[in-house]
Order: sequence, then structure tokens, then C-alpha cells
Amino acid sequence: MKFDIISIFPDFFQSPLACGIVRIAQEKGIIEVHVIDPRSCAPDSKVDDYQFGGGAGMVMKPEPLLRSIRKTVGKNSRLIALTPRGIPFNQNMAKALSSEDHIVIVCGRYKGIDERVITLCKPEEISIGDYVLSGGEAAAFVLIEAITRLLPGALGNRDSAESDSFTTPLLEAPRYTRPNSYRRHTVPAVLRNGNHAHIARYRRKMAIEQTLERRPDLLPYETFTMQDLNILLEVMNGKNSRHKTR
Ligand code: SAM
Repeated sequence: MKFDIISIFPDFFQSPLACGIVRIAQEKGIIEVHVIDPRSCAPDSKVDDYQFGGGAGMVMKPEPLLRSIRKTVGKNSRLIALTPRGIPFNQNMAKALSSEDHIVIVCGRYKGIDERVITLCKPEEISIGDYVLSGGEAAAFVLIEAITRLLPGALGNRDSAESDSFTTPLLEAPRYTRPNSYRRHTVPAVLRNGNHAHIARYRRKMAIEQTLERRPDLLPYETFTMQDLNILLEVMNGKNSRHKTR
């Protein structure tokens, strides 16, 4: 998969692209990442200007961005513009984007990008959350990492994605490593008894419990089995008895 990032701060990406899964995925040839600086598409290197109508903050000029987009986008490219007003990014979007061959990501800066870039190119507008960053670069890397770790061969067993939160709609069960006992907190015995059925049931229960406690909005998206109903009852009874003792 090829990523083209359009950004006036190409240096921003040096360190994140050189670490962990994203670095390994580039070395294995699973992904290729290029950064295009719109300044290289501006005869006077000017990429921003004052707003019509007045107001604090500069706006990214349309011409350098449009030229950068034209240079990179092909017939089969997905064009994305990062913006707080976009569709909130989530794991399902990462999964869907992981089947693309070429993704072009436009990073805004200042007050954002001239609206005509959106009107003329009709990118998918994506937000990474309800807060405002100074630029799209950190958001672009969020997308790249979330997508890359879903590509075949990107993760080894060490970093397995299949049991991660949101892979099913549930949050992941808590995980432990050695030592078995740390500051008088011991790893749950069921995880050490080698019984895979018991471990799977325990993890399912913990995933349901954590999701119920922290993100009940996710539960309606999960498909529950008959066995899960018993687990749900156990979780609910546990909660009730905890409330009674308080
Ligand atoms: N004035 C804009 C607004 O209120 O929506 C915010 C502009 S922000 C300071 C500059 C750039 O950062 C945006 O054009 C966008 O590319 C990026 N950005 C900021 N917050 C973002 C978010 N939550 N998701 C995605 N991109 C974001």
C-alpha cells in the first residue's frame, strides 16, 4: 500500500516513520510512504494567506494544495483531508482503508485549508477526535499506523491484532506478564492454569465487563451467544453485589 502525505512539515514524519510496526512494514515492502511539501508546488513557496472577511489566522492557499493533489492522486487513489469537522475515525474505517492500494492524505495547518480545495477535489473529510490540533500531521500518522497494523504481514505474533479492542466491538480483556506477583498483586490464577477453555471464558467475561463499565455504547454492536448470557448474568450479579456492600 502506498501513502502520500501532503504536508508543509515533511520533517514531522521522520521519527514516527522510523519506529516500530510502521518502520518494519516499510522495510518489508508492505507500505511505502512519501511526503509532498506543497511549497514545492508554489512558485513563490507561499502556502498561506490572510482570510477573506478578516479574522485571526491564516488559511492554506488552494493552488499549491491542488497542484500537490493533482501530482499524487491517480484513478484508484483514496483522497482524504484531515479536519475536525470530518467523520470521526474508527477501527472499522481503518479496516476498510486497509484494502486500498493508494491513500493520499492532506494535512491542514493554520485556520485550515481554503474551502475550494474541498469543493473541487471532494476528499473524504476525516477527524481523529473532538479536539483541535495545530496541524493534520499527527492525525495523518494516526491513520497510517492504525491502517498499517491491519495489513497482512505487518504484525508478528508479538503484536497480534485479532484480540485487540474494537476488532470485535468489545474492549480487550486486561493482559498480564511476568512477574506473577508484583507489589502484592497477583495475576489471576485462571491465566496460569493452562486450561485454554477457562482462559477464553475468563477473557470473554472480562471483555464484556470492561465494555459494560467503560463503553456501554459499544455493546449493542456485539453478537452475543447463549454462553455469553450466563457470563452477562455473572457480570451483572457481580456488579449488584459490589453495590450492596458499598
Ligand atoms: N479552524 C479549524 C476548525 O476550527 O475546524 C481548525 C484548524 S486546525 C488549527 C489546523 C489543521 O489541523 C486542520 O486543517 C486539520 O488538518 C488539522 N486538525 C486539527 N484538528 C484535527 C482533528 N481533530 N482531526 C483531524 N485533523 C485535525
